[in-house]
Amino acid sequence: MTVVRTGTVVDVGIPAVRTAPDVAGRPDVPELVDSFGRVARDLRVSITEKCSLRCTYCMPAEGLPAVPRTQLLTTDEIVRLVGVAVHRLGVREVRFTGGEPLMRRDLEDIVAGCAERVPGIPLAMTTNAVGLEHRADALARAGLTRVNVSLDTVDRAHFAELTRRDRLPSVLTGIRAAQQAGLAPMKINAVLMSETLSGAAELLEWCLAAGCALRFIEQMPLDADHEWARENMVGAQALLNVLGARFALEEIGREDPSSPAEEWLVNGGPATVGIIGSVTRPFCEDCDRTRLTAEGTVRSCLFSDQEVDLRDALRSGATDEDLALLWRAAMWGKWAGHGINAAGFIPPQRSMGAIGG
Ligand code: SAM
Ligand code: SF4
Repeated sequence: MTVVRTGTVVDVGIPAVRTAPDVAGRPDVPELVDSFGRVARDLRVSITEKCSLRCTYCMPAEGLPAVPRTQLLTTDEIVRLVGVAVHRLGVREVRFTGGEPLMRRDLEDIVAGCAERVPGIPLAMTTNAVGLEHRADALARAGLTRVNVSLDTVDRAHFAELTRRDRLPSVLTGIRAAQQAGLAPMKINAVLMSETLSGAAELLEWCLAAGCALRFIEQMPLDADHEWARENMVGAQALLNVLGARFALEEIGREDPSSPAEEWLVNGGPATVGIIGSVTRPFCEDCDRTRLTAEGTVRSCLFSDQEVDLRDALRSGATDEDLALLWRAAMWGKWAGHGINAAGFIPPQRSMGAIGG
């Protein structure tokens, strides 16, 4: 793969990376504005491409090719870039993701370093919760504020089939441990597919009993196996039909305009269920996300392979303001939308696990 970096072309096996995108017309403001008027304040930091599961809609059976350790951001580099994002670019929420963030042994150090560098900023994590039981307390002590756990089914055999690993008991224990550690509110994310539709009502029952807020996410064409097909897509309406047969649902809309989930009150509330209709009800015009990959590139959109490298700049002595300038330029070039529904759509080279969902 070709990478252009200030005039030189090198092969690093990741999508096209540029250092100096065109910033013509960009207003001289510190925030991460784009040319469509959006402002990114929500940072997703992927810290690894490794994972303990192999969800079929995300990873190949053999896992993603390992990224050499030297190419991954170190603890200190992550902390520094999070500091730049908050103190120079107006980021107001940070979420660690991957791959599986729990695969990094230094996760507690990363969280503690960020908590010190950006006090008062919510530090969240999206996780599959495998092994979380052993680390929830330490993570909460380090300064983690919330976790979202990905759980598609509470049927053990079905879980093993979807994730290619028989780890449901560990996930459920991890969820309880996180709740006991005060990591609240606990949100559960489930990917909506024909395979998960039949168990959707049972999963909602389980979440209501466990005090977790459930949100379904429409499956996006971000699987490493490139098997996503529009004709197999299960949309939000099909889910509402299934849940509506068991629960009384009352639409209440979005919690706030930048939240991707539309919410429904369940059986009169206060519990809710959310649906993130990424494909059939895109929310790109309100998107406020900016992403940092585990290798230290800024990605302005899940679906854009045009990434801007910060890692090499950082290792070559760039100042915080130099890094901020690169990050601003990357976000100015953000696309209007993901384009999944456009003719000629081509999925990105990186799959979800390599981007950080
Ligand atoms: N391993 C962690 C986990 O599973 O929560 C964090 C990384 S995972 C890539 C982040 C989120 O992306 C998960 O909630 C997962 O369900 C979601 N995801 C993965 N592949 C997806 C796809 N093709 N479409 C929609 N969501 C997807
Ligand atoms: Fe791993 Fe999360 Fe992808 Fe599942 S969705 S394979 S848990 S990175």
